[in-house]
Amino acid sequence: MAQLIDGKIISKQIKDELKEQVTAMKTEGKEVGMAVIQVGKDPASTVYVGNKKKACAYIGIRSESYELPEETTQEELVTLIERLNRDDAIHGILVQLPVPAHIDEQAIIRAISPKKDVDGFHPQSVGALSIGQKGFVSCTPAGIIQLLKRSNIEIEGKECVVIGRSNIVGKPMALLLLRENGTVTVAHSRTKNLKEVCKRADILVVAVGRPKMIDASYVKEGAVVIDVGIHRGADNKLCGDVDFDSVEPVASAITPVPGGVGPMTIAMLMYNCVEAAR
Ligand code: NDP
Repeated sequence: MAQLIDGKIISKQIKDELKEQVTAMKTEGKEVGMAVIQVGKDPASTVYVGNKKKACAYIGIRSESYELPEETTQEELVTLIERLNRDDAIHGILVQLPVPAHIDEQAIIRAISPKKDVDGFHPQSVGALSIGQKGFVSCTPAGIIQLLKRSNIEIEGKECVVIGRSNIVGKPMALLLLRENGTVTVAHSRTKNLKEVCKRADILVVAVGRPKMIDASYVKEGAVVIDVGIHRGADNKLCGDVDFDSVEPVASAITPVPGGVGPMTIAMLMYNCVEAAR
């Protein structure tokens, strides 16, 4: 039976560590502040924003909430971000994505000061990661590194295969595994012989965005399997990109969905915000 990598427990550990640090910072007169901006009323975004605000409250981070109407212009949003960039009481700025179609997402990401870019999406943060310099790292892949490290899974020297090359998961994941001295292959929709490539992996990170696509036929005996995907099935149940029931007997360790990678993303967002305040 595979070891279950429990993101609920590990994310709670991280949040509790942060809570202690934030409490200590408060005794030195420093309060950590985060601005959370949502444009429009997309129901999924409202849930994500709510969870982020809850996590702030748990840790003791002061969160400022900006719920802007759907018709907010790009200029108005940039003006708000620029004001928050100058506000010393705000250490992290989070704009919940996606923004409505009339707003250029990249322009919004670039408007956020790299010093307050707690999502790690700014080109300067991405560039810093790729040349091995300090900067904020995209929260989901950063959370996966924490899941591996805190489960005592060694990355150094391991064959790591990442399925997916998106800017928010696949690419930063590959760079982080490389930083940890893994031997990294990135697979995508044009990869030939995907099964053979995946079967080389000691650590297989699946961010393919297709429900239950990866079954045991993609997985080497004893591999560690990290499932980034999150989907709601017709039965209203959540599932990942990995067919858990098929893969679990083959893997040495695996993340469940829900309760694996998902809870780590918010924990790492909080981590980035506390780092920003330091
Ligand atoms: P994207 O859709 O942006 O990227 C999917 C990637 O998978 C692309 O690089 C694509 O290749 C590749 N791909 C698609 N189909 C195939 C295929 N048949 N064979 C091989 N590769 C394929 O998704 P994201 O990276 O944003 O997200 C991935 C998953 O993770 C989603 O399920 C998403 O919901 C989830 N997610 C979960 C988070 C969490 O907190 N748990 C956070 C973010 C995402 P190509 O580039 O060639 O098109």
